[in-house]
Amino acid sequence: MLKRKNSIKAYAKAKECIPGGVNSPVRAFLSVDQTPPFIAKGKGAYITDIDGNKYIDFVQSWGPLIFGHADKDIEKAVVKAVKNGLSFGAPTEVETKLAKTICSIFPSVQKIRFVSSGTEAVMSAIRLSRGYTKRDDIVKFKGCYHGHSDSLLVQAGSGAATFGTPSSPGVPEELVKHTLLADYNDIKSVEECFKASDNIACVLIEPIAGNMGLVPADIEFLEELRALCDRHGAILIFDEVMSGFRASLKGAQGFTEVTPDIVTFGKVIGGGMPVGAFGGKKEIMSCLSPEGDVYQAGTLSGNPVAMSAGLESIGKIVKNRKLYNKLSSLAKALMRGFKKSAVKEGIPLQVCTRGSMFGFFFNEKEIKNFDDALKSDTKRFAAFHRGMLERGFYFACSQFETGFVCDAMNEKMIQKTIAAANEVMKEIK
Ligand SMILES: *Cc1c(COP(=O)(O)O)cnc(C)c1O
Repeated sequence: MLKRKNSIKAYAKAKECIPGGVNSPVRAFLSVDQTPPFIAKGKGAYITDIDGNKYIDFVQSWGPLIFGHADKDIEKAVVKAVKNGLSFGAPTEVETKLAKTICSIFPSVQKIRFVSSGTEAVMSAIRLSRGYTKRDDIVKFKGCYHGHSDSLLVQAGSGAATFGTPSSPGVPEELVKHTLLADYNDIKSVEECFKASDNIACVLIEPIAGNMGLVPADIEFLEELRALCDRHGAILIFDEVMSGFRASLKGAQGFTEVTPDIVTFGKVIGGGMPVGAFGGKKEIMSCLSPEGDVYQAGTLSGNPVAMSAGLESIGKIVKNRKLYNKLSSLAKALMRGFKKSAVKEGIPLQVCTRGSMFGFFFNEKEIKNFDDALKSDTKRFAAFHRGMLERGFYFACSQFETGFVCDAMNEKMIQKTIAAANEVMKEIK
């Protein structure tokens, strides 16, 4: 049995002064109906909570930690940077180094600007698209997440309307009426958007969706999207905040020839520090202030400590040619194991991997879009999650999230995890 005493106490204390006790809602563990373990420390594949329970961590800070917790090299780079000062609000060379590194890996990125979160990256990419095209409407897909900026907190309106309605109080109706909603992997629904509006600045997509569970876009669908955007003079934005340096070295762009106009990054490029970025064609990026007149700024943008963590992290990735093969085979082995134990117990389970990303749905059918994902058995997921946590395996606390393996994991840990899953599947059948 897990010890819970300290986390329960800490959670109650946190709730007195932080809404819901957390600084990002998913951390509250509400959809699995449990007290969230408060974390004391992490090392490699493992995290330890304040009650002393140790878990193999398949969340890895929701993606950033591709080398696991407290990686020695990244730690060294950060400490070195810290000693020279935390922030200047003036240019430093490490920003150019990280920019050059990313541009050299992604042919679609000729210039790049750094911000402090994925939310900020996507928000800025949208403004840039609108400024460049001089159009106001944007297209987003149901089930894709692009951070919490106003224009993107939108859900399907009533009836067949492609125009969205706010998904959160506090977001003006007038604003989200500029956001059109389409169905993932369904080109017809995007064509409908272009029929409904001749004012579309950009189509925004997670080319490998990781925020409705793991649902990759079909390659053909991405090609059709590219063609549709070209036909209408709209900008194609790949949101690779999660998939960048996770699905492969080139993120989703390692799986398709399709070239987006703008790419957004976050998570891995900060190596665990708060970093986001957006980049793309020179012609578009040059519209940004001070080169152009689309305004965008940040006091801590390109922060030298955060940039050093990112540079070391990406540097290690580039040096380690076998990294993605290793991560991908660990993720595949894990999902094969889950599938096998589910089949044995007669539990319907869909599994999927892309590089170091993995996902599993308690669902009869293959998942192609958000509506499919929503048909999953979330009660069974919650029971599975609880069973695994009890045994020392920390998974994302929602059916609609992606899991991650890291370089600090090995085959033996995966086998241990599968053995635990065998037991849990028996309990929840
Ligand atoms: C995590 C994520 C974001 C938001 O990034 P934050 O750093 O949490 O603001 C945006 N887009 C995608 C695809 C993400 O996975």
